[in-house]
Amino acid sequence: MSGYNPYDNVLATLESAAKVLGYESSEYEVLKYPERTLRVAVPVRMDDGSVKVFEGYRVQHSTVRGPAKGGLRFHPDVNMDEVSALAAWMTFKCAVAGIPYGGGKGGVAVDPKKLSKTELQNLTRSFTKAIAPIIGPEVDIPAPDVGTTPEIMGWIVDTYSTLKGSFTPGVVTGKPIELGGSLGRGEATGRGITITAKNALKALGRELKGATVAVQGMGNVGSVSAKLIHAAGAKIVAVSDVSTGIYNANGLNIPDILAFVAGGKNLLKDYKGDVEFIDNGQLLTLDVDLLVPAAMENMINQDNAANIRAKLIVEGANGPTTVEADAILEQKGIPVIPDILANAGGVVVSYFEWVQNLQQFYWDEATVNQRLENIMNDAFRNVWETAQEKKVSMRTAAYVVAVRRIVETLQMKGSI
Ligand code: NAD
Repeated sequence: MSGYNPYDNVLATLESAAKVLGYESSEYEVLKYPERTLRVAVPVRMDDGSVKVFEGYRVQHSTVRGPAKGGLRFHPDVNMDEVSALAAWMTFKCAVAGIPYGGGKGGVAVDPKKLSKTELQNLTRSFTKAIAPIIGPEVDIPAPDVGTTPEIMGWIVDTYSTLKGSFTPGVVTGKPIELGGSLGRGEATGRGITITAKNALKALGRELKGATVAVQGMGNVGSVSAKLIHAAGAKIVAVSDVSTGIYNANGLNIPDILAFVAGGKNLLKDYKGDVEFIDNGQLLTLDVDLLVPAAMENMINQDNAANIRAKLIVEGANGPTTVEADAILEQKGIPVIPDILANAGGVVVSYFEWVQNLQQFYWDEATVNQRLENIMNDAFRNVWETAQEKKVSMRTAAYVVAVRRIVETLQMKGSI
């Protein structure tokens, strides 16, 4: 899918939602452009004494409804178009969830697996200094994404706090608990996906218990989704990571597989269990009740969409389905619960973490999980009802809910 620009995906979906709402282009034109983009050089002292310079980005797509909010990605393919698309998705995601944030995203074009721990820390501190002028608890709050971890968030807190002269845990979320992280944040995205999968199956007259499931990606999102979907009584027949997919028609031994890949210490290609090895393409086209793509964007595209046989797709990753694929799936009658609704659990608990940092008052895990469930249930109900009322797909309905909230905020501010 080289040459594919994910920002085109954002614009196409925004247009279709605005059309359903009957908006003039002047009412939502501003949402087509990121408010602020920053490209930075990230010099890093390597272990051999040399200095390497990496390219980094921070994009604030919108601060209409609150501070920009969104993760940092360390991955070789990171570029301005990708970061801008991810930032825009955060704007719409926060609006669908009804939390008081805009959208942002950032990243560095680097393969973190090729760095030593010292080099990774040097890179993180150098990048933090470069973006420090535009981040902060009241303006822009990063978090983990692909290739970044709670430990990395801890280094960001330390660097930012040193620059500002006071301990500022609210500058990022997804931190270790000892540094002001929230209980439940690590599992929040997967928990939100599981709640959404249950809600979607219920709305379609089915249930998660006993459903057959395939999960693409065994990182934070995929592995927690697999764990909680399995715990809810579903039969997970296939999972995958970048190295391979594994399959067992009778259901995989999920606890054993999760222990094997925990912390990214092993790849599935080295897993020794009662499984058949399949590739990621085969996993996506399995005949299952539920498919959860939880790896990277553009995985379901015009080359494979016609072969998808899943009865429901709940998007764990950001942007896993291209616009072309979406149209094919709609024609085939396969409902897709969009990323901005399904994977909002992470940013919702990031919001809780930030609230706890600002209040210096911490909640127990049961409170976090209950409040998460309430927000995910409300967001699902809102989008489902909008889809029924407007006779549109769940993706368009989610954008309708989000765009309406943002445009109404702009109107109330007198900005448009
Ligand atoms: P991660 O780095 O922890 O895991 C990514 C997983 O995808 C790994 O198992 C990796 O092996 C696999 N993968 C990478 N390339 C692949 C390929 N070409 N084919 C198959 N598998 C591949 O990342 P994550 O935090 O789990 O995020 C996954 C997705 O979910 C991303 O799109 C991210 O933006 C999105 N997301 C993450 C969060 C969060 O809280 N972490 C929240 C919302 C959305």
